[in-house]
Amino acid sequence: MKHQKCSSCHKEKTLDSFHVDRSRKSGRQRYCKECKKFFDKEGYHPKYKTKYMIYYLPKERYIGMTYNLKRRMTAHKQRHHRDITGYRVILTTKHEKLAHVVETLLHLIGFNGFRY
Ligand SMILES: [Zn+2]
Repeated sequence: MKHQKCSSCHKEKTLDSFHVDRSRKSGRQRYCKECKKFFDKEGYHPKYKTKYMIYYLPKERYIGMTYNLKRRMTAHKQRHHRDITGYRVILTTKHEKLAHVVETLLHLIGFNGFRY
């Protein structure tokens, strides 16, 4: 059985783990089905999955956490009808636990916004 290395997760996988792509020399897509699925669903590359951001919406006095800031801001605007004017990222980390702890702490101490 032939193998191919996925350009996303860098795992060697059997060819049937890749969708057919006749435009490519190998006859298969560069990304394995698993990575492709993630990409289609989440709209971004899985390797960025582990970057967490704590952000702040000054107009809403709102603290939140996300790993896809653009997507979250769009959701806030369209679904939650929040005013994202002047939003800022407080923390960017690869450690999900740290991000959770910081977010929880900020909520616990009743963080309601920056004052300058
Ligand atoms: Zn993959």
